[in-house]
Amino acid sequence: MQAIQALLQHPDIRFEPFSGSLTVDNPATGDTVAYVRTVSAEGVHQAIARAQTAQKRWASKTALERADILWQWYHAVCGHKETLARLMTMEQGKSLNESRGEIDYAASFIRWFAEQSRRSDGDVLTPLKHTQRMLVVKQAIGVTAAITPWNFPSAMITRKAAPALAAGCAMLVKPASKTPLSAYALAILAYGAGVPQDAFAVVCGHAGHIADAFAENPVVRKISFTGSTEVGREIFRNSAQHIKKLSLELGGNAPFIVFDDADLDKAAEGLIASKFRNSGQTCVCTNRVYVQAGIYQEFAQKVAEKAGSLKLGNGLETGVQQGPLIDRKALSKVEEHIADALAKGAVCLSGGKRSSLGGTFFEPTVLTEANDDMAIAREETFGPVAPLFRFDTEAEVIARANHTEFGLAAYLFTRDTARQWRVGEALEYGMVGINTGLISNEAAPFGGIKASGLGREGSRYGIEEYLEMKYLCIDIA
Ligand code: NAP
Repeated sequence: MQAIQALLQHPDIRFEPFSGSLTVDNPATGDTVAYVRTVSAEGVHQAIARAQTAQKRWASKTALERADILWQWYHAVCGHKETLARLMTMEQGKSLNESRGEIDYAASFIRWFAEQSRRSDGDVLTPLKHTQRMLVVKQAIGVTAAITPWNFPSAMITRKAAPALAAGCAMLVKPASKTPLSAYALAILAYGAGVPQDAFAVVCGHAGHIADAFAENPVVRKISFTGSTEVGREIFRNSAQHIKKLSLELGGNAPFIVFDDADLDKAAEGLIASKFRNSGQTCVCTNRVYVQAGIYQEFAQKVAEKAGSLKLGNGLETGVQQGPLIDRKALSKVEEHIADALAKGAVCLSGGKRSSLGGTFFEPTVLTEANDDMAIAREETFGPVAPLFRFDTEAEVIARANHTEFGLAAYLFTRDTARQWRVGEALEYGMVGINTGLISNEAAPFGGIKASGLGREGSRYGIEEYLEMKYLCIDIA
């Protein structure tokens, strides 16, 4: 705790209650970790005005100068990995191993975009006349804003802030109210590395008021949001007035398809990784498991055994693999989906109830005999429940997997290479994992289609979201 308090030296954070602050609690113990100052809408508009001035100075640096600062930030995050990971586990609940993994993942975006910062190249086009020269240049959008969720308190911030800063933009970040401390810790390390405070400011408080200020203020030219589809729609609507550029990383309903010819041990491991990571609380978590009839029972047994052996507990304790759910609302949704499934014919092979640890701990659950009438077939559970649906043919499973408004991540396991291509191309999703349950990294374009969102983060495409293209036509006659 001493190292955490030493790192969190920021005027917005205190370790005793103060007026106008929000409380950050540890979901594993219920203890308060810290108190964070909230801002009014007026305070957000002031921060936007400061960001506008800071952005001009930041954009006037060369790409190399910005890259050097991002490299410093990357090294600072790596150097504080253990403290940042402990802080994340304390405010979010995920196991320390998962938090360490997320800090690596978060840092990887800073390193990647430090490299990309020098590659925002434009084009020289073939002119239509002898007297004409035609060029395309890429310029920073200006002031941008991010709104991020609690399930990845660090990575969802660096995946937005690193490309924004690399491109020469300023960014205001509104982190989830349950996990703001990781955001502040990243910002403090960024300031130490040379990022101007007003070019990367954290604002906490009433989500609707802050989001409205981002949408209403014409200085903010882009909003990048990661969270639920419901809130994403609202941000889309509110941004229409000023026609803001948007990135929306929204909900999912990921199918996980296991064909008869799959390596079943590998598929079971892939499912455990993609379903139970962060206690099932990631947007790319498997929601529906489709298993071909010939291997259904065998596969179900393998998964139930593995799920049943996952160790639940306070994420700070050694060996713990699964932490608590974020809050009681999340717990209720898990219970509702299980009750609905059992009422409609599902059979519980493993888990199915709250853990004896109390609080919001829930046992990793495997259900068989799931069918398409169940709520779990349509809605994202966002919890540790794997419902196994039976299927017969390839065409049938493709149709059922695509029968959703969402289109973020999908997974399939088969040894048949022709089928890998065929099904991979037929699935209407932004990302498809083939014989793997883990697909995210900084070099890959992360994002969805349909109600799962707009735009891509990470990869060489990620920086484009923070750049405007400008065409210059020169008459040299
Ligand atoms: P959420 O309720 O949409 O919250 C996300 C962020 O939006 C938080 O900062 C929240 O602030 C803020 N917010 C809440 N109400 C708002 C409003 N009316 N206007 C503007 N902002 C508002 O989502 P969540 O429950 O935290 O996260 C779970 C969802 O995020 C899941 O659907 C998951 O699939 C999705 N997700 C998607 C991705 C992706 O990359 N596609 C990644 C992670 C999560 P407060 O915390 O202050 O309420």
